[in-house]
Amino acid sequence: MSSGGLSAATGRTHLRVLVDMDGVLADFEGGFLKKFKAKYPDKPYITLEDRRGFWVSEQYGQLRPELSEKAISIWESKNFFIELDPLPGAVEAVKQMANLEKTDVFICTSPIKKYCYCPYEKYAWVEKHLGQEFLEQIVLTRDKTVVSGDLLIDDRLDITGAEKTPSWEHVLFTACHNKHQQLQPPRRRLHSWADDWAEILETKRRQPHQRL
Ligand SMILES: [Mg+2]
Repeated sequence: MSSGGLSAATGRTHLRVLVDMDGVLADFEGGFLKKFKAKYPDKPYITLEDRRGFWVSEQYGQLRPELSEKAISIWESKNFFIELDPLPGAVEAVKQMANLEKTDVFICTSPIKKYCYCPYEKYAWVEKHLGQEFLEQIVLTRDKTVVSGDLLIDDRLDITGAEKTPSWEHVLFTACHNKHQQLQPPRRRLHSWADDWAEILETKRRQPHQRL
C-alpha cells in the first residue's frame, strides 16, 4: 500500500467521482425557463441572470405566491427531464473522465418526489446522451450523503442527509443560482466544463485521504 492517497484509507485503487445531473450535465434552469414562458406567456418570470437560491419554486413564489405551484407543474410534466439539453461540454467531459485510468464515474442524481416520469426520463436521458453503457453508472438517491466517493460535482450549495461526514469532497458546479455565493475555503468550484476538471481530479488523487 502507498503511504498516502486513496488506497491507504479506502482500499480502493480507483478515484470515484460522483457527477450530479440537473444543473451539471442537464440544463435544468434553461429548460425550465423555456417551458415556463411557453406555458404561462402572460406571467412574470425570473431571468437566469436574476436567479438566486437553489429552489426555483421558492423564488417564483416570492415573485407572486401563485407562481410557485405553476413552476412546480413544469418539472412535474411528462417529457420535462428527457427534453433537457446537455450543458456545454458536459457529455464530452464525462465521457473523457470515464476513460481516464483508475477513475470510476457515477451519475448521482435525485429524482423529484412525483416519480411517474422523472426516474424513467433520467435513465432515458443518460442512454440518449452518454450511451447505454452509462446506465450501469446511475445512482438515483434523494440522499447523496450515504453514497461513498472521492468527489461529488454538484450545483447545490448545501448537500446534507443522514451521513454527517460524507466521504466525498463536494466541488460546487457553478450555476446561475449559486454564482454569487462565497465559498469558505477549502471548498472549491468547477466553473463550467470548460474549466480544468481534470486538475481537480488529479489534486484529489494526490491528496492524502482524510475525512474533513
Ligand atoms: Mg443539481
